[in-house]
Amino acid sequence: MTSIRIGNGYDIHQLVAGRPLILGGIRIEHPLGLQGHSDADVLTHAIMDALLGALSLGDIGHYFPPTDPQWAGADSLKLLTQVYGLIMERGWQIGNIDSVVVAERPKLKPYLGAMGDRISQVLQVRPDQIGIKATTNEKLGPVGQEQGICAYAVALLTSAA
Ligand code: MG
Repeated sequence: MTSIRIGNGYDIHQLVAGRPLILGGIRIEHPLGLQGHSDADVLTHAIMDALLGALSLGDIGHYFPPTDPQWAGADSLKLLTQVYGLIMERGWQIGNIDSVVVAERPKLKPYLGAMGDRISQVLQVRPDQIGIKATTNEKLGPVGQEQGICAYAVALLTSAA
């Protein structure tokens, strides 16, 4: 008897000058970066919320509040490692994760493989268990006007119990 759970996550951060652009733990060449308390890695944040949501464990703001100085400039992959620990200690495994990053620029396709490799390493799964897609917002709305980048993720967890 295998139990399954599904979770979804969403995040958005503003694009600003003077910040690095980090998505899926990968530094991306771009004149603008994402504003935030941590490294503002929207993709990793959406994935964390999907994992937490699958087990009704709340959201990343609960574990890593933006008011807490210890998370200032935090590497989001380290936060993802902690979230994965919460999943594992409850006896759940990752079936798969699928995600999409919405960014008008830059073109993310050249980076998607590296992002998937990094996230699959942190989560100790095969790269083919981590789907990462990129799309634009067709110039519509704040994301389309390059005011920000957002990401969506779903996660499927399985348990033998
Ligand atoms: Mg965030």
